[in-house]
Amino acid sequence: MDFLLDHLPPEWDLGGEPEYRRKQLVEWVFAKKAASFEAMTNLPAGFRAALAARYRLAPLSAARVQGAEDTTRKFLWKLDRGDFVESVLIPANTDLFGERSPRQTLCVSSQVGCAYGCQFCASGLEGWKRHLSPAEIVGQILEAERIAGSRIDNLVFMGMGEPMANYENLMQAIEMINSPWGLNIGARHITISTSGLVPQIGMLAEQPRQLRLAISLHGASDAVRSRIMPVNRKYPVAQLLDACETYARKKKQILTFEYILIEGVNDAPEEALLLARHARRVRAKVNLIPYNTVEGLPWKRPADRVIEAFAERLKGGGCTATVRHEKGHDIDAACGQLRLRELHAGDRAD
Ligand code: SAH
Ligand code: SF4
Repeated sequence: MDFLLDHLPPEWDLGGEPEYRRKQLVEWVFAKKAASFEAMTNLPAGFRAALAARYRLAPLSAARVQGAEDTTRKFLWKLDRGDFVESVLIPANTDLFGERSPRQTLCVSSQVGCAYGCQFCASGLEGWKRHLSPAEIVGQILEAERIAGSRIDNLVFMGMGEPMANYENLMQAIEMINSPWGLNIGARHITISTSGLVPQIGMLAEQPRQLRLAISLHGASDAVRSRIMPVNRKYPVAQLLDACETYARKKKQILTFEYILIEGVNDAPEEALLLARHARRVRAKVNLIPYNTVEGLPWKRPADRVIEAFAERLKGGGCTATVRHEKGHDIDAACGQLRLRELHAGDRAD
């Protein structure tokens, strides 16, 4: 299966058609968001047929959509190459990173499963299966826009998978997403979330785009972080903070530290003080996320007063902290869960 969007436009095989057809094709795909080659009506029928014989356009389709128009909507995608992934569409004027975002945001997946095995996360529960290709990353946005009937102008790579472990495909997708000829979503409106892959943070700092970086910290000390995130044994907190500081300085950017609060695991006062110190050093803001329960996992969120006390300690420690209060809690559960349910429903059907 050769998907058109697994290649950048200059590499598209036009089968001998003149060059201006390439520009028309780009317009049909990214500006007019055509669902098929057939629909590209100003292209000659012979060319459309040749394209359809050579390439496939949409690499995925919606297997399930949950939620309504003005609330958070969750898409379960069935990939043509097999497997399921998820995206979440968050309407404008919803709290995002503790602020009201005027933009319509899509939370995108980067891999099928995840190899990093964070203890609290549904995405890693069944291990890693494969990387998503550039077409499968961009396809989530195009399909979500088609279904929603409106433009997505903010992206967060916080769906299933570790985007930085799929660096090359991610960067190729971002070229199509960010370019004026492509989806034209500004780099400052594209956030990559990582569990802390230090070499890739360095690579991202070296490339020219002003992409935003969010770090899934979830623990301020090595003891706490290593307990819940195995990746910390490879790249401990000190190394991660060095990489963050370099990124923030090079890009003149305020990073976000994501911090899920899990009862009895990472919610102690000492952890808050240490987290405040890290955030001050990197000049990062902290986004506190009350843990979403995952079926089959023992963790739960602390009581509201513990969450508030943790946030107050951060503020007292001189750092900017916000608590993310989710909307549409029932479907807003962390990514990975819908797919898990689908897989297990499949198991039962077999
Ligand atoms: N692999 C990347 C991006 C995907 S995870 C990363 O780890 O950053 C996106 C965010 O959702 C991460 O901060 C992750 O820690 C968080 N998350 C995972 N499971 C969660 C849960 N059960 N409740 C709340 N947030 C969760
Ligand atoms: Fe993977 Fe991120 Fe989940 Fe960790 S939190 S298992 S890195 S998706």
